[in-house]
Amino acid sequence: MKFRTHNAIRYTLEHLFRIACGRKVDLRNLQVVDGSVHLMIEDLHLAFRMCSDEDFDRLLKAKLPLDTVDAFDSHHKIPIINPDHRPLFRRENSRLFIEADIISLPFILLSSLDELLSTDKDAHDRVRYENSLMCKYGLSRIPLVDEYAFFLRRELEQLISVESRATQIIATHDIDETLRYPDFKSKLRALVGALRRGDNLKKIGREIVRSSRDHTLDPYYHGVVQLSDDAHAAGLQSVFFFPTARRGKHDRNLSIDNPVLQPLFERLRRNGAEIGIHPGYETFRDANEMRRQVRLLEKTLNDKITCSRQHYLRIDLSQTFDHLQACGIETDYTMGFAAEEGFRNGTSHPFHPYDFAADAPYRILCKPLTAMDVTLWQYKQYNRTEALASLQSLLATIRRVQGDFVVLWHNQYVIDNDWYAEVYRRFLGLA
Ligand SMILES: [Zn+2]
Repeated sequence: MKFRTHNAIRYTLEHLFRIACGRKVDLRNLQVVDGSVHLMIEDLHLAFRMCSDEDFDRLLKAKLPLDTVDAFDSHHKIPIINPDHRPLFRRENSRLFIEADIISLPFILLSSLDELLSTDKDAHDRVRYENSLMCKYGLSRIPLVDEYAFFLRRELEQLISVESRATQIIATHDIDETLRYPDFKSKLRALVGALRRGDNLKKIGREIVRSSRDHTLDPYYHGVVQLSDDAHAAGLQSVFFFPTARRGKHDRNLSIDNPVLQPLFERLRRNGAEIGIHPGYETFRDANEMRRQVRLLEKTLNDKITCSRQHYLRIDLSQTFDHLQACGIETDYTMGFAAEEGFRNGTSHPFHPYDFAADAPYRILCKPLTAMDVTLWQYKQYNRTEALASLQSLLATIRRVQGDFVVLWHNQYVIDNDWYAEVYRRFLGLA
């Protein structure tokens, strides 16, 4: 039971029961006996089966065959570890036996254990989606942990009180570049680019003239305002992540003391938006640089910063959460794959990542990223109809399990952008 320690099992079941019951359930009486897990909730004794250590190792390599069952509401089929094909639940008086293993795979997904063990990285030093269990077991569109929790809810709601939760769409925005035309060089580059491609020269020229007269008409700046106004109009919670990194190849943000920013922050706050930090490209393994950037944003806003998303979704699971926590970050929005929309950690509910060094959950809370704009056209090569259908079907899946949909849309893809009009605004019900 190398990875499935007592703490790890309790951590997994706490998340499952929080979703199943809609509230925190005290699991301090949990015991692990001969590879089964026993706990008492009120007068009910629950006993969970778990697969053997050999099967757990095969599971980590995606070599363990899974059984398939109907979801709690028959919405779709879901995979499960149930080698003897038994009925999932068996009741005997005040005892409830859970005959399939609903702990091992949720633990791997929530803790990202498969990703931690994956050494093959992409050009940005990120775990590759195709190496994840989510990909290998075909789980990208199935919030497997939530599905198991709703199996539990179906059994428990006759016996103990459960609470429902409303799904929220959370609109989140990484403001990598606040202005498209911050200086002479950027204007020249845009003009040369348009000339070379032989298109849009007139449009770019007009944009540059307009933006030079009035920076609020710069398309990226205007994009931030539009995103915020639209989130406000749709009644959505929204978070804008601002970078404070020093400029570099991958960090192209304005200096945080640029005078165009303060009025923008005020506008966002008037709309009820939250402002978080977008830690720069190199911060995922640099605690000091992370701290410098968070403090700089706090100084600029004269406020504490408690939420964050890593630039390029770059995260080192063995250290980045430690650094974020040390800076006072309480909520992180990084956990999604750039290459695939859906459920990187098998859940659409906020969850704590797992600290394997401490054998305990982190304090920090992850709000999992469901879908990002560039994933749709760049990685998945969808057309706009397919993209909208993908977002809508994920939302329908999430509503069943009462989770949240965190969408990431960049301010660069807003003004004069068909995807913004035909995918994003339609998804929010604004068009
Ligand atoms: Zn970014």
